[in-house]
Amino acid sequence: MSDAQPKSMDEIMALCKRRGFVYPASEIYGGINGFWDYGPLGAQLKKNLRDAWWRDVVMMGCDGLDGPDGEAVEIVPLDSCIIQNPKVWEASGHVGGFNDPMVDCRESKSRYRADHLMCMGKKGDKGGQIYAFIENDDASFDAALKKLSKYVKQDLAKGDIDLCPLTDLSLEELAITVGPDTKTVGTLTEPRAFNLMFKTFVGATSAQTDENAAYLRPETAQGIFIHFKNVVDTTRVSVPFGIAQTGKSFRNEVTPRNFTFRSREFEQMEIEFFCHPDDAKQWYVFWRDWRMQWWKDIGLGGENLILREHGSDELAHYAKDGAGTSDIEYRFPFTAPGYGELEGIAHRTDFDLRQHQEHSKKKMEYHDKTRGELAKNGQPKGEWYLPHVIEPSAGLDRGVLAILCEAFTPDPERASGVYMKFHPRVAPIKAAVFPLVKKDGMPELARPLFKELRARFGHLGTIEYDEKQSIGKRYARMDEAGCPFCFTIDSETLSEGTVTVRHRDTLDQERIAIGGVGDFLGEKLGV
Ligand code: ATP
Repeated sequence: MSDAQPKSMDEIMALCKRRGFVYPASEIYGGINGFWDYGPLGAQLKKNLRDAWWRDVVMMGCDGLDGPDGEAVEIVPLDSCIIQNPKVWEASGHVGGFNDPMVDCRESKSRYRADHLMCMGKKGDKGGQIYAFIENDDASFDAALKKLSKYVKQDLAKGDIDLCPLTDLSLEELAITVGPDTKTVGTLTEPRAFNLMFKTFVGATSAQTDENAAYLRPETAQGIFIHFKNVVDTTRVSVPFGIAQTGKSFRNEVTPRNFTFRSREFEQMEIEFFCHPDDAKQWYVFWRDWRMQWWKDIGLGGENLILREHGSDELAHYAKDGAGTSDIEYRFPFTAPGYGELEGIAHRTDFDLRQHQEHSKKKMEYHDKTRGELAKNGQPKGEWYLPHVIEPSAGLDRGVLAILCEAFTPDPERASGVYMKFHPRVAPIKAAVFPLVKKDGMPELARPLFKELRARFGHLGTIEYDEKQSIGKRYARMDEAGCPFCFTIDSETLSEGTVTVRHRDTLDQERIAIGGVGDFLGEKLGV
């Protein structure tokens, strides 16, 4: 299948359900919009991706690469709470500013992100008929054009209409807008700011007041900023260094959609890297390039992955004079031909540390003993400064979704009709051991091999053992699960001491000695 034709999202979602990668949360009660659970294969796939990130970032310090200063990159881990003092979110700007513009349709009761709706109006007909439709969606565009033609009682072509974001409309224009799923004009409400943070109440009190209100964190990053000083004071790190954490974040998204892409509960993998302001540019470039390479190495190396540097109009106010902001984006079937964000790399300047310093009245400045004028003894006097931050912030669930979409490979030649081409490092099942038939002494050879492989590689993922059904059906199941290698014990194993290795991607079969299976798999898994 060429990259020009997007894969079918319906088929990918069906496979995810069928094979136990992803289930709708609370499915037996009708589900709950914006929440997804991972089944056995999905949970292992997600853990493998999180572990790969943790190992490469935290334990290996950017996989052992030297930083731009020629030194080993220093990263320490952190695990902060989902609920913090609400003042954290006031200081970070989330209480006042973490809003999306929202419009409701009074008739259909549907709710939309105003910035996701585009409007069309008849050209030159300012204040004339206007129609709203969902952006980047050809089907709704054509439907909208048809509807608008009825209103102005003439056949309209694309060239006859003006397009503008719904957020640009005046109140008068909004009043004559036809919503995306109604036939009557004027059913859309004015856009309102909607705060995305989930609010809860802490303590055994029935009074739900502002005094005991708290928020579920909308990002893991702030948990890192508020402990910057603690980490500096209690460990031996020195700037430049990074603090990394993974964990759940929560956003009450106005329109959760596109499978797990925009969920209300999701997991992030974030690094806040602290450096001297003068070094921000070189660290920004370092992180941007390394993070892009990392996603390629994990199996997203094709042309569906791009790095997009932000234009100045997209930058956060504090980042205007910064070293840059970029997104690593993947062409998902539902965004094609466009792309969706997997990870953002941003030079956040000293914005967050400064905000927390001002709000908490606790000094966040760092004393750098390697800088400053030289004293009489020839040693630097030291310099106090607020470090600048480079933030590579990745979505774990979006990473899993991109890997699922990339791996999904239709193949009419196979019994399963499709296989999941996972990179062996993230594949949830690393290998399967099958006796060809459940007799003739084959299970007696297969079971010890399964136990040997599990003892050696079970910490990396599942080792499967299966002796039921025909071998063809077992191979088909492993193709859909994305298992890279199947080892089959057959009559030649009994006579020659060799097993068949079946390669998932090529369907090649080769024979190797049963005693060499462990080393063979170890080499393929790179351990
Ligand atoms: P978007 O513009 O898509 O809403 P964002 O720019 O608000 O994303 P960030 O605040 O930069 O996202 O969060 C960092 C990462 O967290 C994103 O790159 C994405 O991978 C992930 N993420 C953010 N929101 C969601 C969500 N609702 N569901 C799943 N992952 C998310």
